[in-house]
Amino acid sequence: ESALPEDHPRYESLVTRHRIEAGVDRGITSRQGLIAQGRGEAFDYLLGEETIPTADRAARAGVARLLAADHPVVSVNGNVAALAPGETVELADAVSAALEVNLFNRTDERMEAIEEHLREHGAADVKGLTADGRIPGLDHERATVDADGIGAADAVLVPLEDGDRAEALAAMGKVVVAIDLNPGSRTARVADVPIVDNVVRALPAMTAHARELAGADDGELERIAAAFDPDEALAAAERAIREGEF
Ligand code: ATP
Ligand code: MG
Repeated sequence: ESALPEDHPRYESLVTRHRIEAGVDRGITSRQGLIAQGRGEAFDYLLGEETIPTADRAARAGVARLLAADHPVVSVNGNVAALAPGETVELADAVSAALEVNLFNRTDERMEAIEEHLREHGAADVKGLTADGRIPGLDHERATVDADGIGAADAVLVPLEDGDRAEALAAMGKVVVAIDLNPGSRTARVADVPIVDNVVRALPAMTAHARELAGADDGELERIAAAFDPDEALAAAERAIREGEF
């Protein structure tokens, strides 16, 4: 990252890209992860590489749902681990959620590399390797979760989730909070709380909301969650992309 010129107009984007490349080199991110990153970059470009106001409201509503949950889990894949490992661990701490590695292309090597990487960034406990639970409706490899992690969760934060799995989690009755730059993706559309933003910006923003809401009672968390309308948030993101106005 140090070799990148900080005054370059696309500095943040270059840093992000470099982190994903490094993630692939270290066995954390899959090669398909590079494609997902490219897709995300295109939408981020159209959003002006900024957090739009409705995305910040969604981030706050998502945090309210996680704080109100009995068993919240933050799901981590290879892209998130490469892009924002420390921010992911901090957010999980701030909302008292478990961390669980959950991969679209699951291999033991990548599961272990990501677990190790999260530990290096301060995670005390990382779930995902026990693999004794199943999400109904998905094929074996992609259905695998920890029974006491995502299996038992009542709310799951999925930064960059595959559409099928986000749908299956919602069908299990879990509250799904998704971070996805494409407001038209199935993940964004099935989420109870779609946060249309880059994980690099959304995760630290969520931690800030969590710290601010730390003393909130259940009634206040419920009011914040209830005031959020996912369809309206997706429509606002789409307007931002199409018309450049929020
Ligand atoms: P779906 O399966 O939900 O219909 P998809 O097939 O288009 O969507 P995938 O390729 O499965 O999506 O996953 C990539 C998704 O992650 C894309 O929607 C992309 O916009 C989003 N994405 C990629 N990088 C980021 C990022 N850094 N922050 C937020 N979202 C991202
Ligand atoms: Mg997909």
